[in-house]
Amino acid sequence: MSFSSLGLSEQLVRATSDQGYDTPSPIQAQAIPAVLSGRDVMAAAQTGTGKTAGFTLPLLQRIGENPRTGKGPRALILTPTRELAAQVHDSVNLYSKYVPTKAAVVFGGVKINPQMMKLRKGLDVLVATPGRLMDLYQQNAVRFNEVEILVLDEADRMLDMGFIRDIRKILALLPAKRQNLLFSATFSNEIRTLAKGLLDNPVQVEVAARNTAAESIKQSVYPVDQSQKTALLSKLVRDNAWEQVLVFTRTKHGANRLTQKLERDGITAAAIHGNKSQGARTRALADFKQGEVRVLVATDIAARGLDIKQLPQVVNFELPNVPEDYVHRIGRTGRAGESGHALSLVSADEGKMLAGIERLIKMQLPRTSVEGFEPTNNLPLKPKAKADPSRARNRNGNGGKPRSFGAKPAGRSGGRSQNGGGGQGRRSPARQSA
Ligand code: AMP
Repeated sequence: MSFSSLGLSEQLVRATSDQGYDTPSPIQAQAIPAVLSGRDVMAAAQTGTGKTAGFTLPLLQRIGENPRTGKGPRALILTPTRELAAQVHDSVNLYSKYVPTKAAVVFGGVKINPQMMKLRKGLDVLVATPGRLMDLYQQNAVRFNEVEILVLDEADRMLDMGFIRDIRKILALLPAKRQNLLFSATFSNEIRTLAKGLLDNPVQVEVAARNTAAESIKQSVYPVDQSQKTALLSKLVRDNAWEQVLVFTRTKHGANRLTQKLERDGITAAAIHGNKSQGARTRALADFKQGEVRVLVATDIAARGLDIKQLPQVVNFELPNVPEDYVHRIGRTGRAGESGHALSLVSADEGKMLAGIERLIKMQLPRTSVEGFEPTNNLPLKPKAKADPSRARNRNGNGGKPRSFGAKPAGRSGGRSQNGGGGQGRRSPARQSA
């Protein structure tokens, strides 16, 4: 199959060849014709599936069919984070190389005035984070009366980050007649409710989640005391001569602290999280990609949408509070047929989180111990009894797929509801980081 057989114009096909793509990815093969037909689309797709080109290419073709009459925007792409917004904007620029479409990106955390100027000049495609877009609207810097196509990218993450009110406000301002595309990695009740109100008889697109099966990803757990984690990580980086490793921490402070300690140990490291300026984040990512920094330490929200391909190593320095984040994290390794290794340093106090993850992925992760780093308190070896499914659904918002939560982990039975999660509340809304 080729991009031209999907109905894309010669200019757009040429832009994909310039990128070195010869075959459409599964999500592209399904989404491109659907978007070109003018229908609404609801797509289950994660980062790494080629989803961005899946909506950008047909969107460019559709708005290219007629010239712009006003200042635009005619296509509006909403994303949860500034990193993702910047990446989507880069993709739009790449794919629109041979067409006259103009695009811009706006996000929070940087000055608003230059963004106002850009909008005033007129544009076809606007990529935006919801909070900043509303600010711009309130300051009369943007109008929505010409919007023909709306894309919600990583809709699940936008809801997680507390953007639902901004999204609803924006939706209410858009022309009623428009095409809507919703991309989301997971489909919780909340997303389904949003989709129901937004999409008109959508084409549903789904590709096998490569993360959950994750056969190409070797996963392991290293039980270790909290106080020994940094030393163990340094040792692993050194002993295994890892040159590029993405490390996840739960908090921004944790990311900073770990980065400093690694640097003190002589391992080049940089942190990327919501408190860093856009410039600092871009620099850290560039240094990491170029191999000048061996360890990139990130929080979940900052890492989401980072365009880093096929990392051999992902380390969970701390387990995430939300089990789905584990799946997102390990999805950063083992992409596109490459094998990868995701390892988690787990201290005794994280036993419940580990159990939650093992329930979600329906497998027990192998434990590996390192001499000299044996934990003083053992981790529970097996996931504990099933969680109360209604509770799990509430916490994880996965009402649409109760089986993946209610299911028993391999080799376990047990009916008692786990009394876990006391200190593991949801991630706090993180609007400030977008
Ligand atoms: P995305 O899921 O949109 O973040 O895309 C993941 C990566 O795959 C990006 O770096 C794209 O440049 C790349 N990509 C997208 N489509 C294709 C394709 N058809 N063939 C090869 N690589 C692609």
